[in-house]
Amino acid sequence: MNHSLMGKVIIKGQIEVKTGMRIGGATGGLKIGGLDLNVITDPEGKPYIPGSSLKGKLRSLLEKKEAANNPYFWNVNDGKGNLSGHKCESNELYTKCPICRIWGIAVSDKITVPTPTRLLVSDSYLDEKSITQEMKDNLELEYTEVKYETAINRLTGTALHQSFRQIERVPAGARFKDVELIYNVFDEQDKDFLKHVFVALELLEHDYLGGMGSRGYGRVAFNSIEVFWNKRENYENGEIALIPERAINKDLGTTPAEIVQKFEELKKRLAG
Ligand SMILES: [Zn+2]
Repeated sequence: MNHSLMGKVIIKGQIEVKTGMRIGGATGGLKIGGLDLNVITDPEGKPYIPGSSLKGKLRSLLEKKEAANNPYFWNVNDGKGNLSGHKCESNELYTKCPICRIWGIAVSDKITVPTPTRLLVSDSYLDEKSITQEMKDNLELEYTEVKYETAINRLTGTALHQSFRQIERVPAGARFKDVELIYNVFDEQDKDFLKHVFVALELLEHDYLGGMGSRGYGRVAFNSIEVFWNKRENYENGEIALIPERAINKDLGTTPAEIVQKFEELKKRLAG
């Protein structure tokens, strides 16, 4: 297996919030602004989506999908006797596994081939223009809304006494810009595995990002996706460019579902 870099696929786009989204900030018992549950914010106080949250969510969605086809998929103990994690335990399995290939695993005595993380996900920042004046008029805070939710006793299904919680959410209609996923390609097979990244984005559109998804929070959509292919030589020659004209997907589609559908065509454009 050749493990020098062949090139990088750069996926850019934006995330549109369809229903109020809460990615938790570090409250740790501190009630900032009197809220029980805050959203995570950047140093300027604007909500953002940490790359680690998006990357972790994409992994867990793809893991559930893989587990549905493989009864032996969950093989890592969580320390409490539950099998809830996954890690390939042979070079042969690793070579075929989208999870371990894309997200990387530690080299061990069982895995002796290089296992770099192929996917990097950057933080995504709020597009302030997406918070319109009309939205602002209805928001409790500058960029966010505050919802009151009742904590439910899971055993009885009834509301707990005095259990209202104030929950901060990014409002529906907000957009996060400059979403960027970088996918490192080391060999030809990695080009096939790239499809799983778009499948994971597709799965996320029918799941949720952040907390309280069971209450309908955190539905998102990806759009305006641009895919760029920069070969190693492009880096060596300083020829990398992320200008829209160089996007290789424009005629194929700009949403995860469209790209999954036309993936074979997209793959052909990852030449060299
Ligand atoms: Zn694996």
